[in-house]
Amino acid sequence: MDRDAEETSVDRSETASSKPGTLCPFCDEPLPPILSSALTSELLRLMSISVPDPLPDNPLHRCLSIQHHATFCSRHEYERKEIPKAKTHQWPLGINFYALHRRIENFQDELEAIMDDLTGSQFYKISRDSFSPGSSGGKPGPMRGFDTLDTQGAGYYGEKGFALMVEALESMFPEASYNFDAYKPVTWRAAIEEILTPELTIMLIVEDMGVSEEEAAQIRTASRLFGIHANPIEDNPTDQPPKIKEELVEPAVAEGALIDLTTPPTSPRPEAVVKTEPVEGTLKISEYSGEVIDLTLTDDEL
Ligand SMILES: [Zn+2]
Repeated sequence: MDRDAEETSVDRSETASSKPGTLCPFCDEPLPPILSSALTSELLRLMSISVPDPLPDNPLHRCLSIQHHATFCSRHEYERKEIPKAKTHQWPLGINFYALHRRIENFQDELEAIMDDLTGSQFYKISRDSFSPGSSGGKPGPMRGFDTLDTQGAGYYGEKGFALMVEALESMFPEASYNFDAYKPVTWRAAIEEILTPELTIMLIVEDMGVSEEEAAQIRTASRLFGIHANPIEDNPTDQPPKIKEELVEPAVAEGALIDLTTPPTSPRPEAVVKTEPVEGTLKISEYSGEVIDLTLTDDEL
């Protein structure tokens, strides 16, 4: 056929070990064994706007500016690393966000105790120190954002959980009731987002997983990246929980195997159809009825 197809077949014997077909055509990092439908769609789109640019270690590399593929590459790293991590550590896969507000209210007493003496929180000093001298506006600038990065976030609850927690805490502890003089320069906003929210996240993780507070604090930090991808803020929050579940039940395929996405994401037994023969440079995509994405295709062929 054409040069590219020939290249694929010639490479097959030696690529059984190097597996170039499993490397991302853009960043050259390994792709996850199974791509989600969202990732698959994006891969197809990116292939249509890129051209082959073979590299010694990745013959299927394609030329595309990083602005175009950064999100895709961040996402495939999430699917390759963070989802398996979530499974290993048994972090909750589908959080019931509708029940979150009620759960938060159940912690009213504990949260009030923290608000009554913010200095007792492990997060108080970090927040306080992040305010540079003279800055009392309470609007987190770039430096403050950097300093408090590790204290922010809601672990595997992600940005969506963070937003819901902040919303609930704002109504439970309105600004008018905040004793700014006692905690100056920590603003009400900082107290809510940088002290109460991480404390609340730890309480929720303790409840979710039956672990100690110390363990929950570690889980909050370790699951932060997972949470960012698993629970982003979306326009339609009702879509999110089942979507996460789909991603997390996707099967792993043996290393070096054909990347086969012919299994519908909702299949209860996806392992049954996993193909194991190595076919370099191809990705089978579920939503395209077994269509093979050939990473060697040129622009005209796509
Ligand atoms: Zn990549």
